[in-house]
Amino acid sequence: MENEYSSVHHPWVRMIPVKMIIEARLVDDATECPAVHLATIDRELTTDAIGLSLAEGKAILSSAQRYFVREQCRGIAWAHSCCEKCGASLGRKGYHDRHIRTVFGRVTVRSSRVRCCGCSGMKPGASFSPLVKLVPTGMAPELEYL
Ligand SMILES: [Zn+2]
Repeated sequence: MENEYSSVHHPWVRMIPVKMIIEARLVDDATECPAVHLATIDRELTTDAIGLSLAEGKAILSSAQRYFVREQCRGIAWAHSCCEKCGASLGRKGYHDRHIRTVFGRVTVRSSRVRCCGCSGMKPGASFSPLVKLVPTGMAPELEYL
């Protein structure tokens, strides 16, 4: 990737084009998700500026944040597919897009609504969004702190 900080190309310097590929994957004790591509940095190894630019670093963090927040939201939805008190399977009422603001940018996620089973005092069939319960303001706690 050419930028304003690139070194001048000297004819006696051997140029070595490379790609640095940044990937993420979630791993727990039992499973390992396939790697997801986050970014590719193209460089002339010997002649381009040393290190990542600020813009590249921000883009990588933003991409990693988007991937991680979406996976967390998927986990939250899965964890709330059954009642945490009685274990009954909870029906889905539907989905909607929800925006979560974080320190590394806004992430749009799919948020589900689930129907209550009625064991916890809520009206049976009433619905709630597990994600809204966990992130009521749509803002990650660290961003609220800042
Ligand atoms: Zn229940």
